[in-house]
Amino acid sequence: MDQNSVKSVSILGATGTIGQNTLDLIRRNNEKFQVIALTGNQNIQLLAKQAIEFQVEFVATACEEKYDELKQAIAGTDIKCGAGEQAIIEAATRPVDICMAAIVGVAGLKPTLKALEVTELVALANKECLVSAGDLFMKSSKLHQTKLIPVDSEHSAAFQCLAGHQISEISKLTLTASGGPFRLLTKEQLKHVSKEQALKHPNWEMGAKITIDSATLMNKGLELIEAKHLFSLTANQVDMVVHPQSIIHCLVSFLDGSVLAQLSEPDMRVPIAYSLSWPKRMKTPIEPINLVEISKMDFEAGDEDRFPCLKLARQVMESDTFNGPALNAANEVAVDAFLLNKCTYIQIPQIIEEVLDKIQNELNSTDRFSINDILKIDQLARNMALNLL
Ligand code: NAD
Ligand code: MG
Repeated sequence: MDQNSVKSVSILGATGTIGQNTLDLIRRNNEKFQVIALTGNQNIQLLAKQAIEFQVEFVATACEEKYDELKQAIAGTDIKCGAGEQAIIEAATRPVDICMAAIVGVAGLKPTLKALEVTELVALANKECLVSAGDLFMKSSKLHQTKLIPVDSEHSAAFQCLAGHQISEISKLTLTASGGPFRLLTKEQLKHVSKEQALKHPNWEMGAKITIDSATLMNKGLELIEAKHLFSLTANQVDMVVHPQSIIHCLVSFLDGSVLAQLSEPDMRVPIAYSLSWPKRMKTPIEPINLVEISKMDFEAGDEDRFPCLKLARQVMESDTFNGPALNAANEVAVDAFLLNKCTYIQIPQIIEEVLDKIQNELNSTDRFSINDILKIDQLARNMALNLL
């Protein structure tokens, strides 16, 4: 990719928090980027508005019933549109310099894998892909020589610290976690928390699913697995620490005892910008941190007793059997149910644990290689979780 030419970009999940932040940066640097394709799901009016503003070639919604609404909303323009899974794949396979993969959940798995085959660089926000199908992903990026740049803030931080270093020089990677809105609550208090409380994240503005994951600390658990795959590390090389101010995003410890960290305001536009401008840097509206204003930074161990999702994810990361897809699917179902008031906060880890226990008997060692095998485990775990509700 020529670093000085205009870069073509597609955004999968354009209407979400990551998608909107990506377009905000592109809007501010519009001479450097050309948006080719956008995808969304339910929010057609926003999707159409984005497509028209950025004069894209193709826009797709995952929701087939919304095809007419989308077609109508872009009427009078040259923009082509589509609806349904195939249309999302079509958007993902437009050959571009950069594909921002920011669909939430396993729904992003197939399109992102397809994007890896045809684009120069995939900016990866969708962590569920790596939790469900990390090996497949990393293999495909190698096979197609597609650069995979992490967008998740902790992984972007690690990636930035690793510039100029070899993975073999790392002794340990420590992801930071804000601790979420319930960091200081007791186990008893956690029994009574509401979805409204869980949706109020202290530091980050994010989509609903990841905000709930942050409140259960499953987000950090998923991120440990994400880091293990992205940087080809062993389970005992990845760890986490609670850091409520969310200023340090990751610490990379090297063999010589030196530790590098990346610091910035908790604003996703910092890691998104790095994925768009890599290996260079681009201007963003975010001011560098002011240490005097921050004045103090705290660190605590993650409490796996109060936040069992963290323990479950760690066990999956450490186990030899392939439970990533089941962990992810059960979590997606449980979080959905919590958002619909169909289960309580403390039932989320209970549902996941039961699915992980039960699914052991159903899996055999061959269930781990193809995308179809992964989607089969995903569906099985989903059905088990739904039955428990
Ligand atoms: P969001 O809920 O705000 O947006 C999700 C996007 O996915 C939307 O554009 C939506 O239309 C699309 N989508 C939803 N269901 C779909 C389906 N079935 N098929 C196709 N598209 C569908 O989520 P977000 O906060 O932007 O997060 C996106 C991804 O990035 C998640 O995997 C999340 O874990 C990850 N991430 C987000 C943040 C953050 O700060 N928001 C930080 C790190 C990682
Ligand atoms: Mg993160």
